[in-house]
Amino acid sequence: MDGKCSRCLNSKCCTYTTEAIGVAPRSKADFEHLLWQVSHQGVEIYKDEDGWFLLFQGSCEHLGPGGACGIYDQRPQICRDYDNDWCELDAPAENGFLLYFRSYAELLTYCKKRFKTWGR
Ligand code: SF4
Ligand code: SF4
Repeated sequence: MDGKCSRCLNSKCCTYTTEAIGVAPRSKADFEHLLWQVSHQGVEIYKDEDGWFLLFQGSCEHLGPGGACGIYDQRPQICRDYDNDWCELDAPAENGFLLYFRSYAELLTYCKKRFKTWGR
């Protein structure tokens, strides 16, 4: 662990995972599916300049109490590739989100604005 990470006690970058939503949602059916997903605990959705993503809140089981990685020498490649030059210790990832839905209610509000005929 380098100096910056060793000073970062809450290790934000180890407390969630993301998965790209392959095809950007367009139809009412697409958004109904996302409403189902975001209704679940810990599941959020965002859109940034790279597209739409599911965001799963939840700490990695290998994250130790002091922020150390319990499998540091065997950690996954994505963890090795993560660049800490400018990371979530510097600014929250949400700053780069174009859209961010943390609940059913937030996404439903968006659906009603996006589709004038939503619910009809
Ligand atoms: S990459 Fe950034 S957020 Fe992650 S542990 Fe290091 S300093 Fe903290
Ligand atoms: S494997 Fe280690 S570096 Fe990767 S997310 Fe888990 S605790 Fe963090």
